[in-house]
Amino acid sequence: MNKKEDGTVPGSVYLCQISESVSCGACCGLYNLANFSQEALAKILEKRTFEFARVSREVSEIIRFGEMECRRTHHNQPFPEFHHCPYVGLIGHELSRVGCLLHPMAENNRGIDFRGLSYYGGMACRIYFCPVNRHLPERIKIIVRACFDDWYAYGLIITEYELIAAIFKEIEIRLKSHVYLHMLSSEALSKIYRLLTLKLDWRFRSSQWPIANYFFEDRQYCPPVLNYQKFQVKPSRYHAILQELGSQFHDSQALRQAESVLADHFGAVIEKMMVRT
Ligand code: SF4
Ligand code: SF4
Repeated sequence: MNKKEDGTVPGSVYLCQISESVSCGACCGLYNLANFSQEALAKILEKRTFEFARVSREVSEIIRFGEMECRRTHHNQPFPEFHHCPYVGLIGHELSRVGCLLHPMAENNRGIDFRGLSYYGGMACRIYFCPVNRHLPERIKIIVRACFDDWYAYGLIITEYELIAAIFKEIEIRLKSHVYLHMLSSEALSKIYRLLTLKLDWRFRSSQWPIANYFFEDRQYCPPVLNYQKFQVKPSRYHAILQELGSQFHDSQALRQAESVLADHFGAVIEKMMVRT
């Protein structure tokens, strides 16, 4: 989404469009497709963007294009109630980030705002901000923004506010202080990036839980509940992180392995941290 037109961003740190290559389209349903990989998703967006460039900016043609795209992509979506917008595509000089093809500033739109033709309607597209904007402290949003250099991983992670909050809580417990961007070397940032992106290849994720995130506050879809009683063990120190990663364990040994992976990653972050001031 390309928002911020009226300058009001809840939580004061703008998270939707970050740089030439980093942006998010998660609330446009970008990731709510069946079995997508990074390459497959990039191909869908590329094809869509090129084809939309040839569509005349007539209302009926734009709608027809959207219907055709929906027929092409709306199959076995992980969250059936979460609309995947057929107008989320690639934007920028190099088409290097995701954004809205109906936005007035998008290629060929001549300043006309066509977002009113979308499923959500123009108003929602303009003013919606997902929960991460309100639920994470400014200092953490600033760090997370600085960690990413590609849209795919950024958009998959940035809406995961409970996961991000739990990761930073653990870092700050270990540090015994709040963490700010100026305290982080580039090595420390890259270790934090690795922690934040564990979700992308988390081998303990339940096969029932998709990599896409359902972040709306109606909580229609939640990750599987971790049942420690089954193994007669106490809840993990990393419970919130394991839960948000959609983990599922078949025995206590797997749980201990997952904890050990997390402990190693946190250890690596703390080791690389250095105060610059
Ligand atoms: S999901 Fe959140 S961060 Fe991403 S574009 Fe929407 S409002 Fe912005
Ligand atoms: S029309 Fe709205 S939902 Fe669709 S891509 Fe644009 S901003 Fe997202």
